[in-house]
Amino acid sequence: MSKLYFIVGSQDLYGEDCLKQVRKDAEEMTAFLSEKLKGKVDVELLPTVETSQICIDNCRNASVDDDCVGVITWMHTFSPAKMWIKGLQELRKPLLHLHTQFNEKLPYDTIDMDFMNLNQAAHGDREYGFILARMNIPHEVVAGFYKHDNVIKKISRFADVAKAIAFSKKLRVATFGNNMRDVAVTDGDRVETQIRYGWETNYYALGDLVKLINGVTDAEIDKKMDEYNSKYTMNTDNIEAVREQAKYEAALDKFIEKKGIGAFTDTFQDLHGMKQLPGIAVQNLMTKGIGFGPEGDYKISAFSALLMKMSEGREGATGFIEDYTYDLTEGQELELASHMLEVPPAFAANKPAIEVHPLSIGDREDPARLVFDGVTGDGIQVTLVDMGDRFRIICADIELVKQPAPMPKLPVARIMYRHKPNFEIGTAAWCYAGGAHHSVVSTALTRDDIAMFARLTGTELITIGDDTTEADLQKFFMK
Ligand code: MN
Repeated sequence: MSKLYFIVGSQDLYGEDCLKQVRKDAEEMTAFLSEKLKGKVDVELLPTVETSQICIDNCRNASVDDDCVGVITWMHTFSPAKMWIKGLQELRKPLLHLHTQFNEKLPYDTIDMDFMNLNQAAHGDREYGFILARMNIPHEVVAGFYKHDNVIKKISRFADVAKAIAFSKKLRVATFGNNMRDVAVTDGDRVETQIRYGWETNYYALGDLVKLINGVTDAEIDKKMDEYNSKYTMNTDNIEAVREQAKYEAALDKFIEKKGIGAFTDTFQDLHGMKQLPGIAVQNLMTKGIGFGPEGDYKISAFSALLMKMSEGREGATGFIEDYTYDLTEGQELELASHMLEVPPAFAANKPAIEVHPLSIGDREDPARLVFDGVTGDGIQVTLVDMGDRFRIICADIELVKQPAPMPKLPVARIMYRHKPNFEIGTAAWCYAGGAHHSVVSTALTRDDIAMFARLTGTELITIGDDTTEADLQKFFMK
């Protein structure tokens, strides 16, 4: 189980009784938080920071503990912040500054100087806030009484984001083939994404995967077909085409397991030795949290994997998508988003159907894919682009809608959505911001989740939604 460490600040100036009380209160708060975050993370209390050395020890312990995904800090009393400098320099985990108190209300009748000395987060947390700002340490501040629902909600969000960052730091991305020829936005600096997000992105020869594919047994294909038949409706007589995909997925399973891969890419321009572009093989893998980016888009592959991780345990769908085409009926503009094949079944509003159709581009056999209509509801569309000297996350609020009419001739899964605040501003903002045509759409995550991830990873963020105005568009030109 992942855990958050709780580090409470004080000092040795106040005497033993005060420090005992600090410890007791901190234990009670730890138990409360642990209960509230049950099933998501454990919360464990570290020794009260009374000296610089205790702070160093705590931060070192948190940094090397693989189960620890983040740290919550809070100053029960005043805690001189120079005591925190060396510890914080050693901290390599996402940091939440919880600006709270043990007491909700002031005891007006009985308050005296002892109470004031014991309960002075308003004083101590500002001293601590200064040193975080001065040291330029990415962190999140959550303010309010720790038992209030809105505070717990934010701490819970921090736990989700911290878990996604821990996942990101260990993520290994495999690329089969390179970026689609001549395409710009899907490319990126792989050294920088490893430095900033931890992604180990490496190239693997397709020929080695083809060897694995050719070694898949009939029994392994049968097993995969059983899985397909239990999850999806077989809507084709071309069973051989589906078995071909089952073979690909069985081979990919082996490859992913052996190399510890959490996300991968392929490209329809490099399928040497394969009869079909992987369709259902990729779609079914995405249902297991494996990230995927088509046309060599390693950034969206990794980003989709970590956002799926962030949304774990929440209602809603999260996955890769591509912007495709619009309905520009005035005042009722909609977008149809899809891909050649690889739309995540997480978006399915109905039971996906397995179908086999020609691909229209490329020179391979007709691939089997899952076809379905998309879910509806409020969501976000989010992408990550490389601006040359920095990464930029663009997050747009959208409303996923039911498709207005059937599309019987469209042989791929699809979702449809409405932009915010409207088509004119929403899509122009995306273009001004340099947003990619590959993105992650989620009905489980919100702008707040993405904003927290951006802050904690020091990534530039542009948001688009009901609060975006015509005048905002010009801002996106500037750094
Ligand atoms: Mn694409």
